[in-house]
Amino acid sequence: MLKADPGFKKTLSPVEGAGKLSYCYQCSACVAECPAAHNFNDFNPREIVLASLIGVADYLTAKDSVIWQCTTCYKCYERCPQGTHPVEVINALKNISCAAGNGPEEVTSSRDNVLANGSLISPSEAIEKRRQELGLDKAPVAPAGELKKILE
Ligand code: SF4
Ligand code: SF4
Repeated sequence: MLKADPGFKKTLSPVEGAGKLSYCYQCSACVAECPAAHNFNDFNPREIVLASLIGVADYLTAKDSVIWQCTTCYKCYERCPQGTHPVEVINALKNISCAAGNGPEEVTSSRDNVLANGSLISPSEAIEKRRQELGLDKAPVAPAGELKKILE
């Protein structure tokens, strides 16, 4: 059985763009042009906003959650008449999911690469060899330490 946590919306309220959950009046304008909702029966930004508002969001931040079907296209951001910003709510849920160790492997490994190398892709001999073949300089190294500070 799902347990409601009425305090959950307070977790999202300090997150930039995600704090206007209670403005949502469930009109479904965000669903109308959502490519993820059109392609996946179990994905619905209106329902995600509602679940976050009433605090039954555990299933949204669990492993293999539907939230990862969001393409981050921002159509719902443009369509919502209430400024609720469903995509920002979903982004905040993604961060909570990753912090709990429930993010998809491909997302967490990209995050780890950015934190360690300042790049989405790990440096490799194969990449350097190909760059040499193409007459390119060595791949530039991003200031990982500075990036980490900014991200923190
Ligand atoms: S988030 Fe906005 S567009 Fe979506 S149901 Fe709520 S008020 Fe309507
Ligand atoms: S950002 Fe996500 S939820 Fe919003 S319309 Fe695009 S796919 Fe749908």
